[in-house]
Amino acid sequence: MFFLILFDIIGNNMAVPKRRKTSSRRDQRRMHLFLKSPALTFCPKCKKPARPHTVCLNCGYYNGKEIIDVLGKLTKKERKKREKEMKATEKREKTEKPLTMEELSKK
Ligand SMILES: [Zn+2]
Repeated sequence: MFFLILFDIIGNNMAVPKRRKTSSRRDQRRMHLFLKSPALTFCPKCKKPARPHTVCLNCGYYNGKEIIDVLGKLTKKERKKREKEMKATEKREKTEKPLTMEELSKK
């Protein structure tokens, strides 16, 4: 009796697949296992790609209001660099006018 119980514990009583799954079957199963790229829109303030309905992590703005003080979290050196970038983008916006259809066709 004891040996029977021992055999039960040691013996392989697990469910075992009857047939090997082909690579085709395996790959068909894994067809849906992949990472989807996140939906991205462009931040209306800094024009960088940002997730929709989310505070922009680049400038800290959402719905026209500053939510996160982005510059406050940076070191002095990083802050200077970021401020320069922001000014540059603002300048570009002012100087760049939306292209007319003629200009676009030339491009
Ligand atoms: Zn932004």
